[in-house]
Amino acid sequence: MKRFFCACGSPVFFENSYCLACSRPLGFDPECLDLVTLERGAGGGYHAAGEHTASEYHHCRNRIEHDVCNWLVPAAAGLDYCVACRLNEVIPALESGKNQLLWARLEAAKRRMIFDLLTLGLPLQLPDSVTLSFRFLEDQRQNPNVSESFVATGHMGGTITINTTEADDSVRHAVREDMQERYRTLLGHFRHESAHFYFYPLVAAEPAALGEFRGLFGDEREGYAAAMERYYSVMGTRVTWQGRYVSAYASSHPWEDWAETWAHYLHIRDTLETAGAWEVVPAPDTTRDSDQWIDAWMDLSVIMNELNRSMGTDDPYPFVLSELVADKLSFVHRRAVPRSADAAASATR
Ligand SMILES: [Zn+2]
Ligand SMILES: [Zn+2]
Ligand SMILES: [Zn+2]
Repeated sequence: MKRFFCACGSPVFFENSYCLACSRPLGFDPECLDLVTLERGAGGGYHAAGEHTASEYHHCRNRIEHDVCNWLVPAAAGLDYCVACRLNEVIPALESGKNQLLWARLEAAKRRMIFDLLTLGLPLQLPDSVTLSFRFLEDQRQNPNVSESFVATGHMGGTITINTTEADDSVRHAVREDMQERYRTLLGHFRHESAHFYFYPLVAAEPAALGEFRGLFGDEREGYAAAMERYYSVMGTRVTWQGRYVSAYASSHPWEDWAETWAHYLHIRDTLETAGAWEVVPAPDTTRDSDQWIDAWMDLSVIMNELNRSMGTDDPYPFVLSELVADKLSFVHRRAVPRSADAAASATR
């Protein structure tokens, strides 16, 4: 993540709605990917502080009504919701239990993932009209009043479904222990599921890319249901996955290997950008040479883990990247980055 500054000069953060130093409202402009200090405009909306241009913004309706979003909508667009909130198909029932809090956490993680996609110049709608969308659902294990008995987090036909209870830290931690996972976060879920959305346009639709994919990740035509059954049946006595896969779950099926590797790629990009922006490490050029940024990541992830151990908290990156996994990350990078280079070029034209 980049660093942001209020018009008053104080540092502000991606999630902020106000500057704590000068109290002025802030909003994230997804067009220019910047956090903007806002002043009231003549038309009743807002404009960027110091820029008395005709273009005005208003707040996303999910900020006005529920305080769960800090993104902006161009007033001229005539839309109530920001580009991230417009993708919501189902939100949790807000009168129920902790759902307002859980939804706010889901939206925060979702926006950070959408920021990844916008930064990479990836489309939120594919050429065949499939649009990325989200459903945040409860099941009867948490709420006996809902109709669904079991909601699995997953992706189908452009729609990412997240079980709302994954936003409850105690529940997610218990599931992580139960599944013997090293890492389980909301942001990880969003990044993982976004990979399934882009598999077709970035890999399957291009024969050369698909051939290379199969050489690295295996043949995705392998039966998915049987692969999942096999994966869950051997849990506890699991065959060795280290060295060949970035995580245990990645070993379940080539599609999941792609999704796990893609999620790690987004984790690495974001964290390296943050470390570079704060001058913790020299900023590696993540638009180009994967050897360079993977090496930088190996160094930085060790530092991050050690810093967390000093605070008595878990390793944020409890993974080792083998050469094969680095090759898979490099493949993801090459599939994702040409678009970001194009996007950067068009943004500067
Ligand atoms: Zn300020
Ligand atoms: Zn919004
Ligand atoms: Zn998956």
